[in-house]
Amino acid sequence: MRTLIRGGTVATAAGIFPADVLIEGETIARVGAGLGAEAQRVFDARGKYVLPGGIDVHTHLDMPLGEIVTADDFESGTVAAAHGGTTTVVDFAVQTPGQPLREAWETWMRKAEGKAAVDYGFHLIVTDLPPARLVEMDVLVAEGVTTFKLFMAYPGRLMVDDATIYRALRRAAGNGGLVLMHAENGGVIEELVRRALAEGKTAPRWHAATRPAAAEAEAVHRSIALAELAGAPVYIVHVSCAEAVEEIAAARGRGARVLGETCPQYLFLSEERYDAPGFEGAKYVMSPPLRPRPGQERLWRALAAGELQVVATDHCPFRMRDQKSLGRGDFSRIPGGAPGIETRMSLLLDGGVRAGRISLERFVEVTATAPARIFGLHPRKGVIAPGSDADLVVWDLDREHTWSAATHHMRVDYNPYEGMVVRGVPELVLSRGSPVVEGGRFVGRPGAGRFLKRAPRSD
Ligand SMILES: [Zn+2]
Repeated sequence: MRTLIRGGTVATAAGIFPADVLIEGETIARVGAGLGAEAQRVFDARGKYVLPGGIDVHTHLDMPLGEIVTADDFESGTVAAAHGGTTTVVDFAVQTPGQPLREAWETWMRKAEGKAAVDYGFHLIVTDLPPARLVEMDVLVAEGVTTFKLFMAYPGRLMVDDATIYRALRRAAGNGGLVLMHAENGGVIEELVRRALAEGKTAPRWHAATRPAAAEAEAVHRSIALAELAGAPVYIVHVSCAEAVEEIAAARGRGARVLGETCPQYLFLSEERYDAPGFEGAKYVMSPPLRPRPGQERLWRALAAGELQVVATDHCPFRMRDQKSLGRGDFSRIPGGAPGIETRMSLLLDGGVRAGRISLERFVEVTATAPARIFGLHPRKGVIAPGSDADLVVWDLDREHTWSAATHHMRVDYNPYEGMVVRGVPELVLSRGSPVVEGGRFVGRPGAGRFLKRAPRSD
């Protein structure tokens, strides 16, 4: 089947130009003027922008947390992603302590099988890495699971010690893997939480007060030091504050191999949300927490200047009704995380590009091209070029949309951006040449998404 997207303006990380895009089967055949007299299917993109599909490298679909599980599985989560203009997700498989790494990956493969509507890959969250298990990292890299996330927070559940982090970094330095760090000082935070609860401070707002920016900045600093000791690059997930950005910027300035990701919630929402009446603040309980508004401009500057490379979502949805509510009377029991897989692209187009904080090319870079490159999906994903997968989104950048839990596609009963009006709506979303969303309707098929075997680092 030959498909033509005709008359649009193509925007890539490298430039913006009017062009037709001709698709043959699942891949892009040509990009240029006056193509495709013989196409069987033609989409009119006049007045619209044609962008690479978004790549969200930080999602938690169907993830257990104690007795509960995140509200989106691989079907609802990827359908919501597609509605928002995202056509690739890289989710986190979680190793339970003592479990072989491969077994954890296979568990998540089964969760996605037959459900994912767009292509997907996996990182592995490592909770237990004795020296004898290091070889399992090599095996996973060979299978296309090339990235390993470690936690400096959540003692007793996910946190690992510095020796474990160093071991993982050393191994990744040699096998082409990449270590992702959740950088918050879990020991200090636990102490602060204990003290707050002992003083009767139980409301959601104390979640933020007990996870100060300094605890994040310290862990970012330590991550970078450990990576340098190990001779490995390191990728810091969900950078939330100016203090952490300064650590990354300074390290990059002296040549350290550190990459940073931030998320829309840290760019658009701030700590006053925790002062919402009653238990409403629980909607924004996530780690790191929302920060003071002035620091957001530093995050934007870092994104524009390349000190941060990626915007992902940390989509980790829990319902207010019966999941977040478990933490009434004790903020430390509120399941941490918020939905965002659907809202990322339009928020950033509106509040980033339209607002003049980043260029449209930079938008494509941080939402698709850089994630593809860093995570071993380039040039298959993240670009509009002959031979690449035809994961394309036709955006109407003039059309308005109001975000609301009543109309979003994430299977969760609130939206952190409720009532926010954005300009920029994905009119047509293609995954490997097939429409998955057209005119706001899902026209794809759960199960059509394929596992992406990612390439090891080539630096
Ligand atoms: Zn996460």
